[in-house]
Amino acid sequence: MTVQRCLSNLPDITAAHRQGPCSALYLHVPFCLRKCPYCSFFSLAGKDRLHALFAEAVDRQIKQEATRFAKSCRLETIFFGGGTPTLLPAETLADLLGDCLDCFPTAADNELEITIEVNPATVDKNDLGILRRAGFNRLSIGVQSFTERELALLGRPHTALDARQTFYDARQAGFTNINLDLMYGLPGQRVADWRHNLKQALTLEPEHLSLYELTIEENTPFAEQVERGSLHMPMEEEVIAMLELTLTLLRQAKFERYEISNYGRRGFHCRHNINYWHNRSYIGLGPGAVACLDDVRYTAGRDIEQFANHIAAGKPIWEDEEHLTKEERFRETMIMGLRMTSGVSISGLQKRFGIDPAAYYGPTLDGLIKQDLLHRSNDHLRLTDRGLLLADAVMVRLV
Ligand code: SF4
Repeated sequence: MTVQRCLSNLPDITAAHRQGPCSALYLHVPFCLRKCPYCSFFSLAGKDRLHALFAEAVDRQIKQEATRFAKSCRLETIFFGGGTPTLLPAETLADLLGDCLDCFPTAADNELEITIEVNPATVDKNDLGILRRAGFNRLSIGVQSFTERELALLGRPHTALDARQTFYDARQAGFTNINLDLMYGLPGQRVADWRHNLKQALTLEPEHLSLYELTIEENTPFAEQVERGSLHMPMEEEVIAMLELTLTLLRQAKFERYEISNYGRRGFHCRHNINYWHNRSYIGLGPGAVACLDDVRYTAGRDIEQFANHIAAGKPIWEDEEHLTKEERFRETMIMGLRMTSGVSISGLQKRFGIDPAAYYGPTLDGLIKQDLLHRSNDHLRLTDRGLLLADAVMVRLV
């Protein structure tokens, strides 16, 4: 793998599409009301003065990239994420989406999945109406918890009531595809607390749930507190019990677990994220965004003013360019694909990379199958229930 800094040329897009047209676009909005103490994503709090500059620069970038991708993409999914996209005015977000739809080749309207992440503290009914009319047809609400103590601990700028209100407002605005993000395994959280959160979420009847275990990321305030001994994570057995409860309640509620942390009603699995898990190409826009085109991954610089200057001058905005070998790409595709409960297609991997996973991993794969962590059917490898529980340990052996 090679990593270069400060590219002198923009990536050669036309050469980057041996896999067929790129179908996904991600637009990163790197602003937040304030920084949550567990978060390691690239986002900046208190930078309101940069919002207009950002929007203007991304607007230009959309037009530049659309010209370059004119023959090599046909978008099926668009995802505005962050950060907190809805810190920008709804009209600005509507304009940016309008530009994406006008400038890039896209699938037919009824085949497009267009998601925006919202924080309940930053939208009202009017905003949601504007977003829906602009063409966003999937909403992902960052709820995290329905318990005030947990929301305070997580530094969230909203209450449980705000989250419920955002959900009701979204329904009224016409959103028929809504995801709720929730976190479990929080400090001080017991199984009964998690049951309460899940039940509250299910009562709202969303189409999709993303349920993430809190992980302590380096260089975050939570990491420091754990290090100092002032923050205590729940015991592993408690977290496993939370996951088991999740599986039971969601099965009863007719949700399909289609990825380690994602559950959806039939027909509502997130197509944008499925593209990531298939390790397919995607376009990334905005400061700090990542774009992946075949076997090259580009990361844009994070400095917003420099980003805007470079875009205005037609200069490269990519700071890192990571070239992956065929084997690295194969292993990544294997690992990401196993996150999905459907697993990976053996013939699909062979066709794409010319590598047979059984021959490549040999005894490692046999060992995982014998230990009931992996299951092999005719053409598929997938994690077993036990493997899903111990996914990290399985992936380490396949990296
Ligand atoms: S709102 Fe999301 S992106 Fe922003 S700081 Fe909190 S977790 Fe990070």
